[in-house]
This record gives sequence, structure tokens and C-alpha cells, in this order.
Amino acid sequence: MKAATLGLVALLSSACAGPIAASPEARTARYLASIRGRTAFEEVFVREMPKGGELHTHLSGAVYAESYLRWAAEDGLCARRSPPSIVQPPCDAARDVTGPAIALDVPLYRALVDGLSMRNHSPAMGIGHDRFFDTFGRFEVTRVRYGDMLAEVVSRLARQNTRYVEVMQSLGVGGANRVGHAAGWSDDLAAMSVRVPESAVAAVVADARGRMDAQEARMREVLRCGQPGEDPGCGVTLRYLVQMIRTVPREEVFAQAVAAAAIIEADPRAVGLNLVAPEDDPVAVRDYRDHMRIIDHVTRHGARVNVALHAGELTPSLVAPEVTDDHIRLAVEVAGARRIGHGTDIAWERDARGTLAMMAARGVAVEHCLTSADVILGVRGAAHPWALYHDAGVPQVICADDEGVARSDLSREYLRAVQDFAPGWTGLKALARNALSHSFLPGPSLWERGAINAACRAEAPGAERPGAACAAWLATSERAREQWRLEGALRRFEAMW
Ligand SMILES: [Zn+2]
Repeated sequence: MKAATLGLVALLSSACAGPIAASPEARTARYLASIRGRTAFEEVFVREMPKGGELHTHLSGAVYAESYLRWAAEDGLCARRSPPSIVQPPCDAARDVTGPAIALDVPLYRALVDGLSMRNHSPAMGIGHDRFFDTFGRFEVTRVRYGDMLAEVVSRLARQNTRYVEVMQSLGVGGANRVGHAAGWSDDLAAMSVRVPESAVAAVVADARGRMDAQEARMREVLRCGQPGEDPGCGVTLRYLVQMIRTVPREEVFAQAVAAAAIIEADPRAVGLNLVAPEDDPVAVRDYRDHMRIIDHVTRHGARVNVALHAGELTPSLVAPEVTDDHIRLAVEVAGARRIGHGTDIAWERDARGTLAMMAARGVAVEHCLTSADVILGVRGAAHPWALYHDAGVPQVICADDEGVARSDLSREYLRAVQDFAPGWTGLKALARNALSHSFLPGPSLWERGAINAACRAEAPGAERPGAACAAWLATSERAREQWRLEGALRRFEAMW
């Protein structure tokens, strides 16, 4: 049956070739349509497809439980049976296992992988919100392995034909919280700026930069970058979003924002900030408006540094319905966010149409994290607001959020989009391009009103050695260089069909 179908596709392809050959894009679209509903074929397609970039991935959540357990064994940490977790030594002989024995005790190992992730969670168990967020505390002690964690993230992306990532990491949060605590809170944000002078966060900035240096050196060591047979992850462009934590007192959030902006200004590897931790947390709910005011004030409405915000990662049953009234709107209108993480509750916003129109008019992108929305909030398929955003003209990107905890990866997120929303090949290509158009890389876009910049328009898109004028223009824009690289990858991909 399958062979017959393939034969028919081949026949149709050659028949349609006719006097005017179909474009590579049209051939690719036709192939994708021909495998609709055949999951294994779709899986291969999305895995090989160049996906542009990953804009929403939390470093600690991106790592698989198996890696945390391997590092625990190597580092002499203790694997605890109940609750399944990794804890600091000294180990408790009655409750813990350590060293190579962690991997040898099969029932324990299985329980640990389940306990450190959402493996074996099913919708029948209800929404996974609490289990999901509880997971993070269970492997916290392994976080000295930042370089190894980065290596896992970039290597996995490269193996999925994806070469750009903005990793979210809590750079400088601890130090900033101490500065904020000492300052205390005032509703007058100008007064807060005086109480938390940038000089006070200089040490936080230096520490964050030192950490980036050290973890990237370790990452390159793990990946054997520059040596024969280096890991393809060495070719991934790595940038950071500085994470702020929204569940601490407002004065600490303020100092985190000041520190985040200072880190971003001091180091080009950090390209923006984001606000994380559960949005339904009582402190996060209570202080949401103040958080938006803080980010607006410190970032000058996103003009000083780039702002992406988790907003609307809620449902009206998870929180009181009024809480879903305006989080996305406030993130865009007050804080100046240029990307919205999740935005899952948009249908329940008070003025959903107005918020969608505002996002479309301002070019504010929505980051869809489909597995995350499913396992954390129970929002999936037709209940997901994908089409609402699409039809409103809001730019969309696909992200994995916490692929290790959720047992996913970027390709499987694309697969979900293909299966649930059928965007077609041109839609998928737009999603991949959006990941760079809406990245926080500096420099103008390769694209101008739907066409490639005039300096490069005559070249084969993504050519490795473009002419002098194109090369000179690309040299002026980091963003355009990544986009050019993607166009080359897309051209090679489309040549397969
Ligand atoms: Zn997230």
C-alpha cells in the first residue's frame, strides 16, 4: 500500500513537472502534503528541516534526566529514592545510592528518570503543572555543570539542522537579589534607580561575564571544538537571555532588572532579558503590574535592551479568571515586550482582539511551546490558540521551552505543529525564518518587505561565497549573516525533493 502510494506520488511528480518544472519550494510542499498523517515520514521531514533557531529554551530544563544522573554519578552526588531526586553528599545509606551504582539499580534509575522529568505522564493524570515545576528542585545540585549543559543543548540543535539559540539562564540573580533586598521597595521607580545604582551591580555583571567565559570554555572542551571530528554543536551561534525570577519581593525583581540590563549592555553574548518562574504563583500574580512597570522603566520600554516575556501561560481554571484579563496586553503595552512566551490564555483576555491587533501591528511575536502547553496546562490541539494568532497576523515561532523535563525537542515541536495545525511547507518555512527575524541578534534583517536585501538579491540565497557587495553588506549585520546561513540550508533541503 505504501509502495503504491509512493509510486503514485512519483508519477504525479513527474507528470506535474511538465514543460515548466515546479520550483524546489513547490516540490517540497507537494512532498510534505503527500506524507500527511504518516507520522514516521513527517518525523524524518521535520528533523532534517532547517528550523532557523530556538528562542525559548531554559538551560536547566533543556537537559535530560539521564545527563543529570550521569553527572551525579561522576561528581559523587547522592541519588535519593524518595522523593526521586539528586541531593548533596553526605549520602544517607538507607535512602541514597551514589557513584556507578546509580545506573546499576534499574528500578531506582527508572524512578529517577520519571521523577526528574515528565516521562510517563499522561493527560489522564490531569494537568502536569505542579509535577512539572516541582521537578526543577530535584536536580538543582547538578547545576555546576553549566558547560556540559550548554554542550547538550547546542549539540542536540545542530543534529536537528538548527544553528542559532538564545538560551535562558539566571545570570546574576543571587547577587542582584541581595542588592535589591538591601535597597528595599518604593513605588517611585526613579527613587528605586537611585537606591540600586548601576555601580552596585558592577560585581554582579563581572560575575555573570566570568561565568559565561567559564561555561563556554567547558562547552567547547566537551564538544572538542577546533579538534578533528568536533561535535557539530560547535557551529551553533549561542546567545543568552538573562532570566529574572518573578516570585521574589519586588525590590529584588527591580535589582534583577537593573543587573540584567547591565549584563546585556556589557556583553554582546547576552541579547535580552526574560521573566521566569510560574506566572500563577501568588507573588507573581500580585506583583505582575509592578513587574511590567519595572521592566518598562529599566529597559526604557525595550529601547535600551531587548525584552521577551512569559505572559499568559495560564488558564482560567489555574488562576482566578480575572488574572487572565490582561497579562499579555500589559507585557506588550507597558513593558515593551517584543516577544511573548506562550500567550496561551489569549482567548480569555478582556480585549483579545485588541491585544492581537496590537501584537500584529507592532510585530510582536508569539513563542509557541506546544508540548509545554499540553503537559503543564492541558491545552492542546483545537483548544490551543495557534489559529487565533495566525489569523490575526501575529508572527509565530516554535520553541521547546524545557525539552529535557518535557521529553521533547525542537523537531517534535515542529511535528506537533504539522499534525495539529497543518501549516504546509510555506508556513513551516515562515516559522523557521521568523526564528531569526524575531531573534535579538543586532543588525538589519536580510528581508525587506518580503524580498532579500538588494545587495544580495542577485545571489543564490545562502551562497557560501557571495559577491563582494553582498559579502560587504552581510558583514554589517549579525542577524543577516545567520539568515543567510539559514537560506543556504533551506535551499539544500528543498533540493532533496
Ligand atoms: Zn519558558
